[in-house]
This record gives sequence, C-alpha cells and structure tokens, in this order.
Amino acid sequence: MTQQKPLKVLVLSAEVVPFAKTGGLADVAGSLPKAIHALGHDVRVAMPRYGRIDPPRFGLKQVVPAFPVPMDKQMEEASILEGSLAPGVPVYFVENGKYYDRDGIYMYPDDAERFIFFCRSALEMLKRLNWQPDIIHCNDWHTALVPNWLKTIYKDDPFFAHTAAVYTIHNLAYQGIFGYRVLEVAGIAEFGFMYHPAMADLTEVVDFMARGIYFADVINTVSEKYAQEVLTPEYGEKLDPLLRDRRDRLFGILNGIDDEVLNPATDKYLAQHFDVNHLDQRVANKLALQRDAGLKENVDVPLIGIISRLADQKGFDILGDVIDHLLDLDLQFVLLGTGDPHYHEMFTRVAQAFPGRAAVFLTFNAELAQKIYGGTDMFLMPSRFEPCGLGQMIAMRYGSVPIVRATGGLADTVKDFDPRTGEGNGFSFTAYDRWALFAAIVRALENYKYRDTWLKLQARGMSADFSWGASARKYVDLYYRALAALGSRGNLEDYGVVKK
Ligand code: ADP
Repeated sequence: MTQQKPLKVLVLSAEVVPFAKTGGLADVAGSLPKAIHALGHDVRVAMPRYGRIDPPRFGLKQVVPAFPVPMDKQMEEASILEGSLAPGVPVYFVENGKYYDRDGIYMYPDDAERFIFFCRSALEMLKRLNWQPDIIHCNDWHTALVPNWLKTIYKDDPFFAHTAAVYTIHNLAYQGIFGYRVLEVAGIAEFGFMYHPAMADLTEVVDFMARGIYFADVINTVSEKYAQEVLTPEYGEKLDPLLRDRRDRLFGILNGIDDEVLNPATDKYLAQHFDVNHLDQRVANKLALQRDAGLKENVDVPLIGIISRLADQKGFDILGDVIDHLLDLDLQFVLLGTGDPHYHEMFTRVAQAFPGRAAVFLTFNAELAQKIYGGTDMFLMPSRFEPCGLGQMIAMRYGSVPIVRATGGLADTVKDFDPRTGEGNGFSFTAYDRWALFAAIVRALENYKYRDTWLKLQARGMSADFSWGASARKYVDLYYRALAALGSRGNLEDYGVVKK
C-alpha cells in the first residue's frame, strides 16, 4: 500500500512494559509503538496509572490537570500524567484514585467501569491536549468500547471526524462480558444490545470484545494462523459467526519482540553474556540456573523450561498427564508461572516428588524469566491455543530450543526439525494429545544427544529475525487501510444494533 503521510496514532492498552505487565499484551504495547515511531510516525500510548506505578520512579509529570469525564449520569475526575517509552514516544497515564489505587491490575468486580473510565478519559484527554490522532489503536476487551463510541456518541463530533479505530485481538478467550448496566455507565444505553442471528447471547449481555470486532474499521489478531483459526467454532470462542462476517476486515500480524531489551549479549540478569558466535559461553547460565533453582548441577542433562501464565489455554492438562513419565527420563524441569490454583497444586506436587530434578516458582518474576530463557536447553509451550506467543520467540533468541504445539503463532514461528533435511528450528506436535506432546519431547531429547545438531538448532533460533521491523510496517499498512475504511462508515442499523 502506498504511504501518504506520517500518521498520528494513539495506542490504548491496559498494560504496557515497563509500567505494568501480566502477559504478552504488555510486551506488545511497550515495543510496537517504538517500532512504529522509528518508521516516522507520531505514536503515543495511554494506560491507567495503577497504584503500583510509582510516578517519581518513571519521572511522570502531570500534563492535564483534573477534568470531568462522563460516567453514567455523573462526572468523574481524571488527570493525566506523562512519561515515555523512549525519546519521542510519550505515554499518558490516566489517574483516578478510586479506580486505580489498588494493588493489582485486573480481577476487580468493577473492572468494566474501570476500563470504561480509562478509555473515556483517554478520548477526552485528546481534546485537552488538542492532539487529533488519525488512528486509535485499541487492544483487547479493555479498550473495545472505543470503536463503539466513535460510531455512536462521538459520531458527529468534529474532533474525531477523521479518526479511525483499529482493534487488535490478543486473546479471544477474554471477552469482557457484563450486564446491561455497563451500557449506562458507558453512555450508550440508548443504542441497546447488539444483535446477530447466529449469536443469541448478544441480545442479553454486553460483550466488549464483540463490540470491538463489530465497530472497528479494521481488526487484527496477533498471528496469521490465529486469524484463520478464529473463524472456526473450535477457536472462535463463540464469536466466530461475527468474525466470519467481518473477515474482509480481519488480518493477522505476527508480534515481534523487543530485540534491544531482549538480548543475551547485554541482558543484565544473565550470569554470562553470550551471542550466536559464543554459544559455548551459554553453559555458565545453565549452571547458575541449576544452582539458583536447587537443581542438580550438571551440564549434560537436558533442562526444559516453562514460563507462563498458568491458564487452561496453555496446555497444562495434557502436560500434567505425562509429567511423571517425563521426569522418569533423564531430564530436568524448571517452571515459572502463576495463575490457576489448580495448576499451582499440580506443579507443587511435581516439585516435591522430584527434588533436585524439578523446580517450580509460582510467582511473577521478570529477572528469573530471563535466567530461564538464557539457561534452559528447551522451552516448552504445549498450548491448546496460542494467539501469538512470545515465549517461544524469546526462548529462540536466547538459544533455548522450543517444543510447541503447532497452533496460532506457535505454528507461524516454530518449524518442526527434520533430521533428514536438517530443516526446522524446534519441535512441534499437532494433535492436542498427551502422547503427541510426550513424543515431541522425546524427539527433542534424542536430538539433544547430537551436539552438532543441537548447536545448529540453537544458532538458527538465535539468528532468526523476530524483531518488530516487518510487523511494524504491516501495522502501518493496517492503519492506512483503517483510514480508507473510514469513508465507508454506515449507519448504526448496518451494524445490526437493536434497542433494548
Ligand atoms: P500470554 O500473553 O498469553 O501470557 P505470551 O507468550 O504472549 O503469553 O507472553 C507471555 C509473556 O509474559 C512473556 O514475555 C513471558 O516471559 C512473560 N511471563 C509469563 N509469565 C511470567 C512469570 N510468571 N514471570 C515473568 N514473566 C512471565
């Protein structure tokens, strides 16, 4: 697509590295804006100022004093602090003690209200900054009402007349489903529930994700494979009929990783720096990890790592079925993760049953994560579904060979190793099945025995380009596409909206 002019882009995200993170969304929101800025565009980011974000630590300064934000029939006050991701990439923090002065990021009963307030404040902030973006780039359910607003309450607002909405689905499994009340809070009750002939639920609940998909000028998922998968009932999380309707506006763009921050040659958390030409030095990290994790120090035994949210999506049920058999083999296992209590129990038992061979850290720890990427031989992601997955890319960059289920972004980035041709950069399996997983791990263990083969696999992963360069260009194309689609905005009826 030809590029006409530098764009002004506001990225809205509930989490942004380095300020707040629970998963991959934060990595994307913290790195993609820098890559788009590097292409010559004016990109700014907005997020809530959660209680745990310390303004002095990040040098945040107030740029917009308190202003009123409509919430239901009341006004709530927001003020805006400014920090930055990098020179030229400002981050605006929406401040409100009532909503954000809490320990965590999510999982509060008023989350709908908290994120409605964040988004509404961000739109109102733009007027006070007198900065009119061409694109508002919304991410996941937390920000999904923005496209809905642009086509309802802000439809005739000249300030937003030339602003298009891009909606990125990072994970279709988290849709933000609430009752009618949130429409009142969001000021769109008069437009009522949505309607879709194949989705009866929509006339009874407010599904934020569905509204993002419905109203955005263009939509994308975070890998090409996942963009195809979500069109099917198996992966569509009940939104597949809607996604099929919108398939002409649905694209897949693989996430990148921040290869400046994620660099084993400079990573301050590693015991020993290394690069692809000095892979022999990597072993010091394995020994340090074994020591720190209470595993038996042994350079030869294959060490498999996992760093993950402990959620059903990630394939821990099939892993749980075979993990005892795996640990009967000659290997070590280290896990860093937090989430579902059921998996906390499962992995605690494993650590107790296999002392010195299995180590489990049920916490969120960015420093330990780097040590695991840099010290393990293999990195396991047996996901049931995976919109993109960053873990496998970071692992490859750090010389840990991925073992994955071939789904979503895992299928787009990991090619199964074929010993006959020497092609491939990891190990993958297709059926969501415990023995398919087991067999893939056994294949990895067999190949690990051949040092030359293994070094080649590591070097291939480390030499691959997982940076944002190519994907950032695709986002810019997507932005222009969204602007072109603006002209085709129809009436509300065209979107199938019905009154309550
Ligand atoms: P998701 O977004 O579904 O959580 P991704 O693979 O896309 O999965 O991204 C996960 C990101 O979060 C990676 O950067 C990974 O290293 C990090 N991460 C996940 N769990 C932890 C943890 N317990 N401690 C530190 N980092 C973690």
